[in-house]
Amino acid sequence: MAAEFRHNPETAALIVGAGAGSRFGQAKAFYVWQGEPLIWWAARPFVRSPDIGQVVLVVRTEDLESARQVLQRLGPRGVVVPGGDTRSASVRRGLEALDASVRRVLVHDAARPGLSQRLLGRILATAGDAVVPCLEVHDALHRVEPDGGTHAVDRRGVLRVQTPQLFDRALLERAHAMLGDAADDAELVSQMGARVTYVPGEEENLKVTLAEDIERLGHRTHDLLVGHGYDVHRLVPDRRLVLCGVEIPAERGALGHSDADVATHALMDAILGAAGLPDIGHFFPPGDERFRDANSLHLLSEVVRLVEEQGLEVAQADITIVLEAPRVGPHRAAMREHLASALGLPVSRVAIKATTAEGLGPVGSGEAVQAWALATLRSGARDDQSPAS
Ligand code: MG
Repeated sequence: MAAEFRHNPETAALIVGAGAGSRFGQAKAFYVWQGEPLIWWAARPFVRSPDIGQVVLVVRTEDLESARQVLQRLGPRGVVVPGGDTRSASVRRGLEALDASVRRVLVHDAARPGLSQRLLGRILATAGDAVVPCLEVHDALHRVEPDGGTHAVDRRGVLRVQTPQLFDRALLERAHAMLGDAADDAELVSQMGARVTYVPGEEENLKVTLAEDIERLGHRTHDLLVGHGYDVHRLVPDRRLVLCGVEIPAERGALGHSDADVATHALMDAILGAAGLPDIGHFFPPGDERFRDANSLHLLSEVVRLVEEQGLEVAQADITIVLEAPRVGPHRAAMREHLASALGLPVSRVAIKATTAEGLGPVGSGEAVQAWALATLRSGARDDQSPAS
């Protein structure tokens, strides 16, 4: 019998996302970014870590069902509880939901979707009753007085504090039982006289507070997606041979419903694949009269628009065409220019290679033309504006 995969039952994570998001303009935890709500991204490192036993999501009452679905999609582990009127009240609700086996608890903001396993590991590996990630302040700090006067603030010893913050469970429960509300839990336990241990945080672990932070998040995460596409078309007399939008003089052309541009079709499937979308047959069904003899570059532009709606943009394309005759080389420069313009990319980001099949198989006998494509997409370049439904 296979050994059961065990999570450490002594460590739990509370993900707190019960705020109204007044500075953000809507409840942040369920703002959809790169296809999932921020709280999904915030909870993911904990759900995936074998070092974490219980995961507790603390959300507004109206978001309980959405939060259950978030946990379902992440892997069915964890519980959802309704939050309180303040952040500290929400943490207290989360503490009440902890399993008896829990000795250490991490408290994390639902609006921090960029936590890495590396930072989580660094926090868990640090001994102490309260372990807190932080960043140094490099900008000069000024205080502006109500009368308009300003003076510089000494930034030595000033730290920007992040989450997740790791606490001894009993200590955190005592702090919440004895003290009132605080901006974060480290402040509460230090009021109890506990010593806080600081570890280096990460800029990528930023907290989404303002709408502009969503854009900063995209620039910080450098998420790259790669997709692959393949296509083949039969070669017949009395058809045009169009490759990457360029008509190439040839005895036989590609058979198909549209202009049968095999290279552009492979590239469209690569782009759709990187975005996790269905293939081109789904969006442009063969037999649909709207696409009869269609210019495939127009369809490519439509595919680019589809992935941009997902908050993605094409970064690079690489195509290999397999054709016995005629030679593709003389047309390569024009083909790159056509594709680059349809993709909105510099020509240097579009590669086109061609080879023959050495006389082998249907491509080698001149009965068919094939193409393979890879596409790289960058996420976060444009944010997903749609609020969670
Ligand atoms: Mg095709």
